[in-house]
Amino acid sequence: MSHLHLDHIGLLSTVSSSTTIILPDKDVAKATIGTWYERSPRWLAYVLPRSWDVTRSAKVMSEDENSVTALLVSHSAYPSVAYLYIGKTSTIFYSGDFRLQRLAEPVSSLEESLGRLGIDTVDLAIVEGTNMGSTASMMTKTGFEETLINSTSTFEGIIVSIDPLDLEAALFLYSVVEQSQRDVVVASERIFWVLKLFHEKWPRLLNKTLVAIETSRRTPPVPISSISLVNEVFRDIKRYIIIAEPTQLLEHLRRLKVQGREVDLSNTVALLLDPEPREVVREIEEEVLIRWLKMFGVHTQRVCLSGHYHPYDFKKIIQLIKPKQLLPIHTEDPDLMLKLFEKLKAHEAK
Ligand SMILES: [Zn+2]
Repeated sequence: MSHLHLDHIGLLSTVSSSTTIILPDKDVAKATIGTWYERSPRWLAYVLPRSWDVTRSAKVMSEDENSVTALLVSHSAYPSVAYLYIGKTSTIFYSGDFRLQRLAEPVSSLEESLGRLGIDTVDLAIVEGTNMGSTASMMTKTGFEETLINSTSTFEGIIVSIDPLDLEAALFLYSVVEQSQRDVVVASERIFWVLKLFHEKWPRLLNKTLVAIETSRRTPPVPISSISLVNEVFRDIKRYIIIAEPTQLLEHLRRLKVQGREVDLSNTVALLLDPEPREVVREIEEEVLIRWLKMFGVHTQRVCLSGHYHPYDFKKIIQLIKPKQLLPIHTEDPDLMLKLFEKLKAHEAK
């Protein structure tokens, strides 16, 4: 498994118990999807393996007994890996989802990793192409940074919706808002769990952080200050940046409405991070969220910060791994990728 997005992990419970499942990081998987889905009454319960005993963590930057080495790559779920198989007669590179430009420090670039492994060509590359042939307009890291800086200096209130697994985006957000005078308010349990999980590694993660979540039995003990969203944060919103998952943001707004609380959120912007442009389910949910935000006077901006490489990165990727053969996956336009690949190969051979 390359990462924990649902379109990749599928239904692990259907994998035979005599098969070992390799996850990027078993502990992270247990603490996140393991806890979130274990008692789900829906199909999500089947996402989890029948037993965690059959799973283990990928070996990052070192070869396992099957001659496979995992490479940490940048994506909108942390950690995400690509796999490199170095066999006696051939080498295979397999990418799950990945982007070329990382957002934050936990991952090294593909170039660095391949360089450290001394790999400059492979026989077969199995490569995703989510954005290949896509007409969606995607923001770069610099564009996202600019949007964040402009928003903090223009709007009183800032709400950013991110996916709880997207630690890289959270780290990047923290590095940008560190320069402002605002404290970060985490208003989602699952985002808080993920930040807590990694905070020993990156202690600055929970610096200047306040937590505004409803108490729940299954929330880990809070080592940092709690704050009330309605009574404190919304009353002096210019002092904070609120981070929440889209669904929980919706929950907060619905609760306010039900309670009939008067909250003025005009002069507030909600930046909705959309890392996976083709997840239709999320888009529908987002439309509902946008209507609710509007009701409270919040200006909404969709930020398509793709978890996948941009079409213009394809050439660089091919130059980095120089595959003899390409097998496109996870794309709606494999023909385009193959045609481009043949052209680039012919060009390189000249
Ligand atoms: Zn993904």
